[in-house]
Amino acid sequence: MTSLRDLPSIEQLLQLSHRLINEYGRPLTLGALRSTLDEARARFKAKPEAGLPSMDVILSQAESHLTAWTASTLHPVINATGVILHTNLGRAPLSKAALTAMKEAAENYSTLEYDLAKGQRGSRLVHAESILQRLTGAEAALVVNNNASAVLLVLSALASRKRVIISRTQLVEIGGGFRVPDVMKQSGAKLVEVGATNKVRLSDYKEALEEPAALVLRAHRSNFKIVGFTEEPELREIVDVAHQANVPVLDDLGSGALLDTAKYGLAHEPTVQESLAAGVDLVCFSGDKLLGGPQAGIIVGKKDLIDKIKKHPLARAVRADKTCLAGIAATLLHYLKDEAEREIPVWRMMSLTEGQIKVRAGAWQDALGQGDVIASQSAVGGGSLPEECLSTYVLALRVKSPVTFLKKLRECHPPIIARVENDTMLFDPRTVLNDEILLSNLKSLLQETE
Ligand SMILES: *Cc1c(COP(=O)(O)O)cnc(C)c1O
Repeated sequence: MTSLRDLPSIEQLLQLSHRLINEYGRPLTLGALRSTLDEARARFKAKPEAGLPSMDVILSQAESHLTAWTASTLHPVINATGVILHTNLGRAPLSKAALTAMKEAAENYSTLEYDLAKGQRGSRLVHAESILQRLTGAEAALVVNNNASAVLLVLSALASRKRVIISRTQLVEIGGGFRVPDVMKQSGAKLVEVGATNKVRLSDYKEALEEPAALVLRAHRSNFKIVGFTEEPELREIVDVAHQANVPVLDDLGSGALLDTAKYGLAHEPTVQESLAAGVDLVCFSGDKLLGGPQAGIIVGKKDLIDKIKKHPLARAVRADKTCLAGIAATLLHYLKDEAEREIPVWRMMSLTEGQIKVRAGAWQDALGQGDVIASQSAVGGGSLPEECLSTYVLALRVKSPVTFLKKLRECHPPIIARVENDTMLFDPRTVLNDEILLSNLKSLLQETE
C-alpha cells in the first residue's frame, strides 16, 4: 500500500537539485520543493488511487514553480497598435542619448549633488534647470517625479488653505484616478469653481478674484473636447485678470509639447513656450508624454515662486532620481539642438509620412506572403490630442479567430500588441521599433496556425 511516507524527503530532493540551486539559489529552491511536496500530499489525500508522483516529476514541478516565481512581469512588448503614447505600454520609448545618460548615471558615481568646481555639495536641481531656462526662456525650473506630483507640490507650496480659482470647464479626470478637484483637495487648497461646464467668462474669474486667492489654475483638458455651445477666454486674458488682482497663474499643460504638433497634420497642442509667452507664472507638464522622455514632472516659471516650491517638504518626497534627471536632461538637449524630430522616438513616429509607412507595410506583406496593405489611422494617445488621428497604412491579416490570434500574439517573445477592426488583425508600422523581430514572430505564428 502506498502511503505518504513513500514521498522522498526534502534532503533527498535537495541532493538531486544542484542545477536548480545553482540557478535559483538554495532558499528559493527549498521553498519550491516544499510547495511541490505539499501539493503532492494534498492531491494524495484527496485521491489516493492516483498514487504519488515520482522523483523526476517532483523535481520538474519544483522547477516549474521556480520559473514562474522568477519570471519577469515587466518586459518589452512590440506595440503594433499605432498609438504612439500608449499609457498601458509605458508611454514614450526613449532616445539613444537619453538611454546612454541614464545608464551612465545608474552604473557610476556621479555629480548628482556634487559641485565639481567647488569640490563641495551641490544640488540635483541644476542638471535640467539651465537647459530648461535656455529652451523656454523661463527664469527657473524644477523636475519632480511626475506631473501629478508637480501639480500637488505647486498647490501645496503656494495655496494650502487658500483659495484656488479654476473654471468648471477644466475640472477634469486625466485617467488613473487623477482628478483635478481631488488633487486640489489633497493639497489643502480651497477649490473655487467658476463658470459652467461648457462656458466660462472673464467676468466669472473677475468676480472670484474680488476675494483674496493664492492661485488661478488652468488645467489643459488633455483627453477630451468640449464642443457646441461653449466659451472660454484666452489664456492671456485670464492671466491679465489674475495679475490685476496680484494672483499668479499655474498652467497644468499635461502633455507639454515643446514643438508644434500642427506640423504633422494634427490639431495644435498648446506648447510650454506659448503659456509662458501668455504671461503664465508657472507651467507644469509631463516628461513622458509628448516630451518623449522618462517619467517626470517639469515645473518652469518665475524664480521667486519656484524657490518657494523647492523649499516645501513635499519637494523632497516627490523628487526625481538620478536616472530620471539624466534622461530628462538628455531629452531636453535634443530640443535645444533642434534635433528632436530625428532623435526622439515619439516625434520620429509622428513625423513619419504615409508614404514611408506604406512602404514598410508593403515590405511586411512581402515578407509574410500574405495580408493587405490598407489605409488606416494612428493616434497620439497619452491623454493628448483626443480624436486626432494621423493617416497611416497598416498590414491587415484575416485570420480564423481574431480573439485567439490576439492571445497568441500576446504569448510571443516579445509579446505583440495589435488591433482588431471588423474581424481583421491590423499591424501599424508607425509604432513598431524593430520590424525584423515583429516579422520573425509573426512568421512562426502564421506557420503554426495554418
Ligand atoms: C497627464 C496629465 C497629468 C498627470 O501627469 P503624469 O505625468 O501622468 O503624472 C496631469 N495633468 C494633466 C492635464 C495631464 O494631462
